[in-house]
Amino acid sequence: MEENQNNNLSNLSPVPKGIRDILPEDHQYLTYIKKVARHRSRQGGFRRIATPMMEREEFITAIHGKNSDLVKNNLYKFKDPEGNDMVLRPEGYSGIIRAYLAHEMKDWPQPIELYYIEPYFEFVPQEKKQFYRSYMEFGAVSIGEKAAALDAQLIYLAHKILQDLNIESLFQLQINHLGCEVCRPKYLMDLENYFVGKERSLCFSCQEKVANNPHYIFRCHEEDCQILSELAPKVNNYWCEDCSKFYNRLRSYLEALEISYRENLGLVGKYDFYTGLVFEYWDRDQKKENILLHGGSFDEVIEKISGKKIPAVGFNMRLEKAIKAMKKEKIKVPSKDNLQVFIAQLSREAKKKCLQLMISLREAGIKAIGVLGKGSIREQITLAEKFKVPYMIIMGLTEVRENIIILRDMKVGQQKVISYDDAVDVIKKLVGEENLDTYTEGELG
Ligand SMILES: [Zn+2]
Ligand SMILES: [Zn+2]
Repeated sequence: MEENQNNNLSNLSPVPKGIRDILPEDHQYLTYIKKVARHRSRQGGFRRIATPMMEREEFITAIHGKNSDLVKNNLYKFKDPEGNDMVLRPEGYSGIIRAYLAHEMKDWPQPIELYYIEPYFEFVPQEKKQFYRSYMEFGAVSIGEKAAALDAQLIYLAHKILQDLNIESLFQLQINHLGCEVCRPKYLMDLENYFVGKERSLCFSCQEKVANNPHYIFRCHEEDCQILSELAPKVNNYWCEDCSKFYNRLRSYLEALEISYRENLGLVGKYDFYTGLVFEYWDRDQKKENILLHGGSFDEVIEKISGKKIPAVGFNMRLEKAIKAMKKEKIKVPSKDNLQVFIAQLSREAKKKCLQLMISLREAGIKAIGVLGKGSIREQITLAEKFKVPYMIIMGLTEVRENIIILRDMKVGQQKVISYDDAVDVIKKLVGEENLDTYTEGELG
């Protein structure tokens, strides 16, 4: 066996490019967002689903199309030990579509309303300014029935979650309707004809898309491509009666739910497979680069791969973007990580009693910490200050003998003596019932 000459593994320790550790400070946000998303989803009748981290490459290609940017450039592909071509899942819809078909969910009461909070992977080239190859995504889908009221409810769910996170005001909801299988082909044909002959004004990537995916040009950030997109035929001139009715109904529901929105006839959605309704939450300054959440219907892709007409609509949001927005707004999240009591002791006898007390405090839901090592009382107080604990317990030989403790209020810097046996109850009151970290049913996950 070849011996590795370089035993120094320190060059292996940096985080691989494009992926990140979520450190405790950010995790507080993550936990909070998950909690809000779970709560609002459950309230809206959505049930949680988790699909595997990997899917067959063939399946993802069928969903997104072999010419899509995602399939061409952004998939994490690998061969498993049996030689199967696999990918790390790039988004949440594909797994759900597969699960819906595999488990014959069409036989369950419809619509099937599901939500998920899972990690996803997209291979983004390094040269992109903010490239993340692994991210957390929250999404919700409604499959099996078509009704403007269902789409409105889905948007309402997104709206409530952003409101709860206190970031809704930073973003603006944009909506559009891309037509259906009846009216859409004519629109796409006219769009293609419009761009044909204007290729020289388009950027290199857009030139290639004129024939097979003119909507791609709408997403391009190049100025010339944007100007041409703005002057392109407008989808509303092509809507059939059903699409017009659907769209008007949806708008009236949004108004009834007091959700403000902006109609944007140039909005085409993030995925090529979106048809019908599309919606996105854009940064208020309307930079396309900063889309917090996007959604749309994807009936046609399900029909394409299964041959069955199954309506579907969904949205998803990258949690890292929500965290960034919350931090920008200086929104504080309630944290259960903050320590409440620091226990300092002097002497071996005190150490034993302190250990027992620490366990009793923790059992009562109070977050207690004590180093219980050596260290002078001064050193332990300094440490308690570093941990920013509001209360400190001090026990020495005298306290052990008299079965008492010294309780120090760190904020005011005053201390008093109380009975060892009353310690848990006294501190519970000081900390406050609502701040105790006890298990509550329904909070797992
Ligand atoms: Zn139509
Ligand atoms: Zn372009």
